[in-house]
Amino acid sequence: MKLPSVISLKDYVPSARRPAFTRFNVFLRDSFSCQYCGRTFPTHELTFDHVIPRCGGGRTSWTNVVTACSCCNLRKGSDTPRECDMHPMTEPFQPTAYQLQENGRSFPPGFLHESWRDFLYWDSELDS
Ligand SMILES: [Zn+2]
Repeated sequence: MKLPSVISLKDYVPSARRPAFTRFNVFLRDSFSCQYCGRTFPTHELTFDHVIPRCGGGRTSWTNVVTACSCCNLRKGSDTPRECDMHPMTEPFQPTAYQLQENGRSFPPGFLHESWRDFLYWDSELDS
């Protein structure tokens, strides 16, 4: 079947669909490094932190959640970045599938494979 080119252009959607908002993808976006102390941790020592705490109206979304080690997360508690003077090194952002793929590439093959053992846990969609 031959489609008129005008229609296929109109229906064109950028191929980089929005990646699912999951724990794993948040960690992958931040390259498995704590956004407060900058160190890389094995996944089981990583937590995710609300930059603007939930009790302060912060949402669980790509733009308010960063990777933090349990130590920094504990230190930050439910303070805002200004209150505790802890600011994420990279402003949280909505990554593209391509960016996540590129980040995944920079890890040794065994590393991500290990993380995927808990696939169901890591890949469950976070509440927003
Ligand atoms: Zn840390």
